[in-house]
Amino acid sequence: MVKVDLDHIYKQYPNAENDLYAVSDFDLHIDDHEFIVFVGPSGCGKSTTLRMIAGLEDITKGDLKIGGKLMNDVAPKDRDIAMVFQNYALYPHMTVFDNMAFGLKLRKYEKSDIKNRVDDAAKILGLTDYLDRKPAALSGGQRQRVALGRAIVRDAPIFLMDEPLSNLDAKLRVSMRAEIAKLHQRLNTTTIYVTHDQTEAMTMADRIVVMSMGEVQQIGTPAEVYDTP
Ligand code: ADP
Ligand code: ADP
Repeated sequence: MVKVDLDHIYKQYPNAENDLYAVSDFDLHIDDHEFIVFVGPSGCGKSTTLRMIAGLEDITKGDLKIGGKLMNDVAPKDRDIAMVFQNYALYPHMTVFDNMAFGLKLRKYEKSDIKNRVDDAAKILGLTDYLDRKPAALSGGQRQRVALGRAIVRDAPIFLMDEPLSNLDAKLRVSMRAEIAKLHQRLNTTTIYVTHDQTEAMTMADRIVVMSMGEVQQIGTPAEVYDTP
């Protein structure tokens, strides 16, 4: 059961111009298994909010709770969160298998457990026949799948994605959108997805959070936010 509560969260970067807040009074209560999309123009505070949830940025004011537990001071590695970034740098000298296994090895998972987890993720993502390849020998979509695979092998209950499709061409973005939606259903995660693309928000979200200049403008279903049936 993983609810994520953002209780009146603020972020001010230490070097901020005019003491501006990058994120101001962000208040959101996310249900178990929801697919939430943060949408808004570049610089509105989407990534900052996501990074605070992951523990990669300190929270200036407000409380972050995961499963009811206060997380403000919990280290990223202890948060049980999977994350995929826009620049999903894969290790070029490693095979697909080793790229996906990397975080598990670091955390000293058993070899047989690693193999099972990577094999399962590869099956889900259609990468079974590519495990011995290096990233350079993959298509853009396959590389993106490896990045997703690397994130899902630990079975974390929370999945954060920061513009994961923005480096792909338009056609691939559409098909990967559907794959990510399926992945969310199949893994049963609570998912938060950041994008500046309204179409992505509309087609993927249970609820959309519209941001502008560090503030939440609106929270609602795609129909509520975009006024479509
Ligand atoms: P988005 O993800 O919506 O594009 P960001 O969260 O990256 O927006 O940025 C929100 C605001 O915080 C912007 O004004 C940006 O310039 C500022 N910002 C982001 N990262 C830093 C940082 N490390 N130091 C100072 N200001 C930052
Ligand atoms: P190490 O880094 O300890 O040398 P390896 O990267 O060689 O380990 O492999 C770790 C485990 O994952 C081994 O049990 C190996 O058989 C398995 N493995 C590595 N590559 C693949 C692959 N492409 N497909 C299936 N299993 C693999």
